Amino acid sequence: MSKRCLSSTETIQLLLKKLPMKLSIQELGEISGLHRNTVRSVLKHLNEQNGVNQTGDLRTRNYYHDTYGDWFRRISAASKSSNIAKSIGYNLVHENIATILGNECPNPGLKNDTELLSKFISITYPFIEINYSDEGKPSVSTEITVTETSPSNSRFVVRISKCLCSGDPKHNLSCSLVSGGISAIFDYVFDSNSMVKKHSSFKNESSQYCEFEVKLKGLLKHNEEIKATIQPNLDEI
Ligand SMILES: [Zn+2]
Repeated sequence: MSKRCLSSTETIQLLLKKLPMKLSIQELGEISGLHRNTVRSVLKHLNEQNGVNQTGDLRTRNYYHDTYGDWFRRISAASKSSNIAKSIGYNLVHENIATILGNECPNPGLKNDTELLSKFISITYPFIEINYSDEGKPSVSTEITVTETSPSNSRFVVRISKCLCSGDPKHNLSCSLVSGGISAIFDYVFDSNSMVKKHSSFKNESSQYCEFEVKLKGLLKHNEEIKATIQPNLDEI
C-alpha cells in the first residue's frame, strides 16, 4: 500500500494552523524543512479564503492562520466541558502569575482600589485579541473593568470587552476559560477561594462584552493541592 505524504501546501497550512504567532517565509522554511522558494510559491496561492492571513510589506511580510484569540478558542472547544475549560483557564493564569510574581501579592493596595485591580487584571489576563496594523504592528483591543458591588469587598463584577467568546454562543466554552482565569487572578490578589460566574453578555454592531460575577469565599492559604482539587467543583456558567 502506498503511503500518502503531505504536500508542501498541506505542510504550510498545518504549521500555520498549529502555531498562534506570525511567521516569515524564512521561519516557515526552517520549521518545515521546505526550501524558501517553495514556501514562497505555496504562500502565493494561500489567502484569507484558505484561512491564511498576512501582515507587513514586502520586506517584513509575515503569515498567520489563526489569531491569538482563535488559539484560545480552540483550546476551549477541545476541553469539551465547562469545568475542564475553567480548570485549564485557572491553572494557566495561576501558573503564569506564580512563576513571575511568586506567592505574595505584589501590591496589597490592589484589594481596595478597583482601578488598580482593573489594571492588574488587564496585565495578567492572557485571553486577549491581538490585532495587526498594515505595517504589522500589534495592538491589544481587550478592555477590562472591575466594579465592586458589595461594601465588604466580597463581590465584584468584571467586564471583559471584548470577551474571548465574541458573543458567539458556539464559543460558550471560551467564557469558561475566561472565568477560570479571572478566578485565579482574584485568588492571587485576595488570597481567597473565589467563585466566578458569567452573568451577562452584550453585543451590538460596534461592541461586545461579557460580565462575570466574582464572589470571594474565605481565605485560601497558598495550598496548591486545595486549589487544584476545588477547580472541578466551581459553579457551571
Ligand atoms: Zn464571553
